Amino acid sequence: MPKLIFVTGGVLSGIGKGIAAASIWALLKWAWLSVFCQKFDGYLNVDPGTMSPFQHGEVFVTNDGAETDLDIGHYERFLDTDMSRLSSFTSGKLYEEIIMKERRGDYLGGTVQIVPHLTGLVKEKIHEGFTSSGADVSIIEIGGTVGDMENEYLLETARQLQHELGHDNVIFIHVALLPYLMASKELKTKPIQHSVRTLMSYGISPDYLVVRADTDIPADMIDKIASASGIKRDNVVSAPTLDSIYRVPLAFHSESVGQKILSSLKLGDKTIDMSKWETLLDNIDNSENVLVIAMVGKYVGLEDAYYSLNEWLKCAGFAHRRRVKIRFVEAEDIEKEGTKLLEWAHGICIPGGFGTRGTEGMIMAARYARENQVPYLGVCLGSQIMAIEFARDVLGIADASSEEFTPDGANNIIHIMDHQKELTTKWGNMRLGQYPCIIRPGSLAERVYGATEVMERHRHRFEFNPLYREQMEDAGFIVSATSPDGMLAEVVELRDHPYMIATQAHPELISRPTHPHPLFMWFVEAMVK
Ligand code: GLN
Repeated sequence: MPKLIFVTGGVLSGIGKGIAAASIWALLKWAWLSVFCQKFDGYLNVDPGTMSPFQHGEVFVTNDGAETDLDIGHYERFLDTDMSRLSSFTSGKLYEEIIMKERRGDYLGGTVQIVPHLTGLVKEKIHEGFTSSGADVSIIEIGGTVGDMENEYLLETARQLQHELGHDNVIFIHVALLPYLMASKELKTKPIQHSVRTLMSYGISPDYLVVRADTDIPADMIDKIASASGIKRDNVVSAPTLDSIYRVPLAFHSESVGQKILSSLKLGDKTIDMSKWETLLDNIDNSENVLVIAMVGKYVGLEDAYYSLNEWLKCAGFAHRRRVKIRFVEAEDIEKEGTKLLEWAHGICIPGGFGTRGTEGMIMAARYARENQVPYLGVCLGSQIMAIEFARDVLGIADASSEEFTPDGANNIIHIMDHQKELTTKWGNMRLGQYPCIIRPGSLAERVYGATEVMERHRHRFEFNPLYREQMEDAGFIVSATSPDGMLAEVVELRDHPYMIATQAHPELISRPTHPHPLFMWFVEAMVK
């Protein structure tokens, strides 16, 4: 019988519930337990794939091709474990399944209801999660905050599971914000008290309360919160904002959070081995010289849109004991003001993206990197931009473009894959998830990866057009990794440049803090040189 931990949020969303949760799971993982995570979100989109990064942050993709919430990324990175399709559900996805069953007549004329049908389906998904992963502990995060109408059935399912399986097997952790009022210079406990009470009105008493605040939290505040919300003083964990999210597991460890949870779940006393993480923090603390990367994109107003990529560039910096600073440059500003906006950059990164806006500015940035021998890393759209720039400037194909920007263009260096042409919906027609890449011997890619075949995660629609490959290669644009059939370009690089390389995949999705992806590691090294 696996143990279940439910995580709920209180007061506000976006307070770092995912990071707090991932940090606790990491402690359990380092106690040599196997841990599986699931997140249930209340909104009605079937998955976050079609949501704007402005509203929802980046879309995280799993190996098996599910488009999920960015918290699943935190889980993978902190736990160093791959999640799957069973890790992320929305109300939309669950309702879709129920309604399909109803239309098929599976309910034999019965009335289909939130309880027991929807709650029953959630239980099935939780069961499938822990049985398929064989985990000792299954962790289930309920998205949003308690009191949200759309999450009520999730709380009800969690309550029922605790009732059915017993308190030794199912516990609750509530993560809530302790706001600070500037005017009166005080922390206010009332919102937390209300959120705990709301949770109790659903029949759930949290076993642990993680108190998030922007400042240090005085001990008497914790006393007050514990007594007002009826939670054991020892189980109220203070979680002030730290200078690096990677410090959170250590901060929790210093409060023995892992040991306490093991004991609540009757998992016995276990040693928690923090050694790998301590090395990471040691590197962070000893990273001094600063490298500045220009990230040229179009969602630059919202850092969460490029969350994974930023983190992994930073972590690759730490591994070299350098502090990598990412400065966002709005691609449209380059169109207006030119590449002088990039003169300070040690390296240029063009991240993934969709749509035409800003792409001319990105092409200008790629040209600047090529002509000035500035290290360049292109990620997905960034690889397509690199190809278009090269075709325009080196081959002289002035109208070189992508079918995404010029559907009727005569020279679409980047085009849509044939089998996707007939797909017209906005979902389900991308190349998603893990695919093998075969690396060309003798290439920079081979040196970077130190391998001839690797797996990379994808999320894109368009591809490098092989019709242009020969003339591009003759001029020094090398396709250095492809799909096994040789048809799809996976990695491209320039012959006459110290580090101008780009991948059609998303290496940020598989990079881990304790062992960053080689494309990032080499990018940082190229900047140091
Ligand atoms: N828009 C491009 C495509 O669909 C790139 C996608 C991406 O960067 N993730 O192929």
